[in-house]
Amino acid sequence: MSMDVMLSQDEISFRNEFKIFLEGLDLSFILRMDKEDEKEFPKDFVKALGQNNYLGIPLPKKIGGRGLNTVCAILAEEELGALAFPLGCAMGMSTYLCRAIYQYGSPELWKKYIIPTMKADLICAEGITEPLKGSDIARLQTVAKKEGNHYIISGEKRFQKGGIGADWFLTFARTNADVAPHKGITAFVAERKHGVKVVEQFNLLGWRGMGASHLLFKEVAVPEENRVGNEGQGFEILMYLLQTERLMEAATALGSARECLKMAVRYSDAREQFEQKIREFQGINFKVADMAATLDAGRLLCLRAAKVIDREEKRPNKEVAMAKFYATEAAWNIIDQALQILGGIGYTDYYPIERFLRDVRVAKIYTGTNEIMRELTQRGTYEELLKEKPSPAWKLWKGSKNLM
Ligand SMILES: Cc1cc2nc3c(=O)[nH]c(=O)nc-3n(C[C@H](O)[C@H](O)[C@H](O)COP(=O)(O)OP(=O)(O)OC[C@H]3O[C@@H](n4cnc5c(N)ncnc54)[C@H](O)[C@@H]3O)c2cc1C
Repeated sequence: MSMDVMLSQDEISFRNEFKIFLEGLDLSFILRMDKEDEKEFPKDFVKALGQNNYLGIPLPKKIGGRGLNTVCAILAEEELGALAFPLGCAMGMSTYLCRAIYQYGSPELWKKYIIPTMKADLICAEGITEPLKGSDIARLQTVAKKEGNHYIISGEKRFQKGGIGADWFLTFARTNADVAPHKGITAFVAERKHGVKVVEQFNLLGWRGMGASHLLFKEVAVPEENRVGNEGQGFEILMYLLQTERLMEAATALGSARECLKMAVRYSDAREQFEQKIREFQGINFKVADMAATLDAGRLLCLRAAKVIDREEKRPNKEVAMAKFYATEAAWNIIDQALQILGGIGYTDYYPIERFLRDVRVAKIYTGTNEIMRELTQRGTYEELLKEKPSPAWKLWKGSKNLM
């Protein structure tokens, strides 16, 4: 595979082992997930991942993870995306939520929530977005009031994947209204049995079978020990968890695109019109060239972001945001072009391409929209480039000399 030159032998071996594991699974549930009445989270699949130690790939072994790195996690995500786009999230959610709890939460929380979640004995979900506050999440309106040794959480959360089947939620609520909005947020682990209610299930264009729900927190009493980090640290925790989440979703989308490109190549090599293979037409084979280039560019951006996360030297806001918007748009365009190469039959459910297209569309919206990703990318770019020294040749020109 062309990307292998960028990977270590251990990373390649892990990916190959994971592919063999996936080949051994009964994948018929993938078709069931797409049925309109199928809204449950794919628990059996997650259970199989947990039993084989594929949940928490980059998390330490002492908390039940696999002890590998973020690069391995995105390689696994690409393989899942190649089967069906929603599966990446089914696997990834426990990784990014537990990574945040491991980084900021107490060892008691690791024991109570992370270790059983790594085995899929518990299923988790993420309660961030609200009906009135989406992209502007620093101004979220859910509140948590301290009463004795509990926090009483009240508010609504919208679009929680896995919300229907989850045992616990990593959620965020305002504990202080008197400071800047992003400084007044606190993170909590709230259990379903603490009283979190599903009030609506959504019908979706694609990405079905993931239990996307609307949650009501009506005076839900969460024990003080379920607070993650300190009061007011919630926004920092949220930004931390979103790094891994965005990257894993981006890599999954590229896995879906990879399979559609493969399918388009095979189809155009087999299909004949005007008494020749359609791959002979430049209108087809130049599409393939563009699809292959954007696929690999997306993969390289994801790989770089994963390596920056693994080095832990800086918060990779820009690298992750750039990888997320580029890779998810590359995936969408590649899948769309693959459908075009198949012509009319591509628009039917004879092939999975129409399904991939419907499923991957959400990747440009969730985990932070691509507009917000561009905002983060431009911010990081200005910050970096304004600090960078210009090339000595700038002084040869009158105009550029003024910018030095
Ligand atoms: C299927 C699905 C699953 C999801 N899963 C989860 C989940 O598990 N947990 C969770 O908490 N959330 C989840 N979400 C929510 C998702 O993250 C949000 O939908 C997303 O962050 C955008 O928020 P919004 O829908 O409120 O849109 P809004 O924030 O209202 O944005 C509307 C439009 O305005 C644009 N916009 C807003 N602000 C700016 C700006 N500053 N500059 C430029 N454009 C801007 C947006 O990009 C968008 O195009 C899910 C969503 C979907 C559809």
